[in-house]
Amino acid sequence: MEQRDSWKWQVRKSIRSTGELKEYLHLDSREECGIKLAEAEFSWHITPYYASLIDPDDRNCPIRLQAVPQEKELHDNSGVMDPLEEEKHNPAPNIIKVYPDRIAWTISNICPVLCRHCLRKRMVGREHFDFSGEAQKAALEYIARTPEIRDVLLTGGDPLMYPDEFIDEILARLRTIRHVEIVRIGSRTPCTLPQRITEKLCRILKKYHPLWLNTQFNHPKELTEEARIACERLANAGIPLGNQSVLLRGINDDPQVMKALVQGLVRFRVRPYYIYQAQTLKGTSHFITPVEKGIEIIQSLRGYTTGFSVPVYLLDTPYGKVPMNPETIVQRDAGAVYLKTWDGKIWREPNRRE
Ligand code: SF4
Repeated sequence: MEQRDSWKWQVRKSIRSTGELKEYLHLDSREECGIKLAEAEFSWHITPYYASLIDPDDRNCPIRLQAVPQEKELHDNSGVMDPLEEEKHNPAPNIIKVYPDRIAWTISNICPVLCRHCLRKRMVGREHFDFSGEAQKAALEYIARTPEIRDVLLTGGDPLMYPDEFIDEILARLRTIRHVEIVRIGSRTPCTLPQRITEKLCRILKKYHPLWLNTQFNHPKELTEEARIACERLANAGIPLGNQSVLLRGINDDPQVMKALVQGLVRFRVRPYYIYQAQTLKGTSHFITPVEKGIEIIQSLRGYTTGFSVPVYLLDTPYGKVPMNPETIVQRDAGAVYLKTWDGKIWREPNRRE
């Protein structure tokens, strides 16, 4: 019989009603009503594991805010459903192409937890998603006939929500295309369903190197023993791990929280890679922070923790990702640039332009 530490048990026992949710946290009648109103527009479910991380008495618990719907999602007319205009960059079914040499292939619309801030809530957890044999074939044919594609990101939804055999098959098919040099997987399972990272899955993944995996931890509360074991298994399978956090108001928009997060990630052998500015996305405006907050966080990390623990703060746009660096170049003149160091000193670097 499947147990709590089995990923299939976690998926089968996903929390989908306020009645089940009340086993994990206290809900007053207003909050319960808010969830019921919001779920008509934006669906939700939560793994028992992730729900168990919620502080039952804290309405502002960072896990709760990421996973439990709130009525305020409905009172947000400021955003759009596809802020990156991904649906305009579809040369083949479920393929998103923004850059010359790489693509994202959204192979799933299922996730362990439907994050309230999800960029792809237009498709994740919704029914209209075609990943039929024909759609897969057309996508693979597109990749095969497009030699400039050297890097394929498998994303979704979450690609690791498929059974092992399916993941094995998709990776094997990709590996028959000679110009595909690297495969990347985007998966939040190490954070929201770490039970998914089994030894068997890792044995499959390691057959297809070079293979990279980026995940999404947003708060130190997510750095549990289960998550550590999942990351360790992946790292031991030779898979380089990166983390892509989203900067979220009330969750991680705090230098101390981010410092604890990035330092914990490095202990887990995960490199903090990006901090994304939250998008102007329908139903999520309550999460958006000012840009100055992201800059403040990066400044609070640079020099104060290990260099490779400092992620790049950036904004994703329909034209690609744009780093938003703190103001390190304070001045330029004909012969030099003046750079502000991490502790506020000014360094003059000659700038020869011949
Ligand atoms: S894991 Fe990623 S794709 Fe899935 S719901 Fe969360 S943010 Fe969206």
